[in-house]
Amino acid sequence: MDKELKNFLPEQYLSDNEYPINHNYLEAQFSDKEEILKKISELVSRGDFTLGAAVDDFEKSFADLIGTKFGIGVGSGTDAIFLSLKSLGVGPGDEVITSPFTFYATIGAIVTAGAMPVFCDIGSDLNINPDKIENLINEKTKAIVPVHWAGKPCNMSRINSIATRYNLFIVEDACHAIGSSINNKRAGSFGDTGCFSFHPLKNLNVWGDGGIICTDNPQLARDLKLLRNHGLINRNECQIFGYNSRLDTIQAIIAKHMLGKLSFINESRRANAKFLDEKLQDLDEVTLVNGDVVNVTHSYHIYPQLFERRDELKEYLNSIGVDAKIHYPIPMHLQKAAKIWGYKRGDFPVAELAADKTLSLPVHEFITKPSLDRIVEGVTQFYRQ
Ligand SMILES: *Cc1c(COP(=O)(O)O)cnc(C)c1O
Repeated sequence: MDKELKNFLPEQYLSDNEYPINHNYLEAQFSDKEEILKKISELVSRGDFTLGAAVDDFEKSFADLIGTKFGIGVGSGTDAIFLSLKSLGVGPGDEVITSPFTFYATIGAIVTAGAMPVFCDIGSDLNINPDKIENLINEKTKAIVPVHWAGKPCNMSRINSIATRYNLFIVEDACHAIGSSINNKRAGSFGDTGCFSFHPLKNLNVWGDGGIICTDNPQLARDLKLLRNHGLINRNECQIFGYNSRLDTIQAIIAKHMLGKLSFINESRRANAKFLDEKLQDLDEVTLVNGDVVNVTHSYHIYPQLFERRDELKEYLNSIGVDAKIHYPIPMHLQKAAKIWGYKRGDFPVAELAADKTLSLPVHEFITKPSLDRIVEGVTQFYRQ
């Protein structure tokens, strides 16, 4: 029998804090928590706990930010993807094309919807390679789920034109990409739906789980509002049997508060990333992950680049107090959970290479200039040895 599964997340947050230059910045992020607690305290007095005014208000503000007509708050980013597919009628017997270089949730959401994920290798920007999508399309293909990895937008003009040609839906996994854009059009506004997460480690974060779906389609918006709330049109009438995946009202209050800080968060991350780009670009052992799409605004949810002798570098950086992290060492097609589909090493060489060489350096909004200097010094030092 398998060992009992521990709740490993709390442990992970604690161990992240061991590094002076870390990926975890939550204490600083919520240093004004009293303000938020006051708003929550007002909510408790009102007793407006589920889908209250705070949810409406946040949904509207968030949709305005992304530039879509509707925002539907849900329980998590995973549910945002799953409910999007469900509302589009994607389910058993259908195939959904996506990246093997993503977080587990992208694939979990497709599987939960009952559909079959079909992996498409990534390009040198770590995003799904549009050149390789068409070969995978057959009569079962219903949707593409592009993932804007690290916050760098996928090539949406190419992906949109493929989707139009083959009549496929697009559900954007924009969980890394709050505030990213192409030619000032926001990630999450290109597809039939755009899906976002407010997990504590995302750029716009809350005190637990939360997510939202953005769309311009009024019918989808209506269906999604039904699906997330038991299919109810009112207290006594159920139109379709659905789910319970609402954005918590408490989390909506926190999310709305954080929305006011998003420019600061993203601009700081961009400046930090730019600094590191400049300092690392001349090192032969480092490959900066650049995209082929121009006029892109990146939100640097993470700052992953490709490094020679990655594991040794990581160990070295950790030893000097820099919390360099791997997002993620095993691509989806090589996960235990994917065994049933029969993929093997070699199937997606670019994703596999990325998994072997990727390392994320901290660039969050509270990193100081001396810390950035220390990171650069560490990397440079390592390759000089
Ligand atoms: C975080 C994340 C999700 C899921 O978000 P949750 O809110 O944690 O469910 C989905 N896709 C990607 C790429 C993510 O990073």
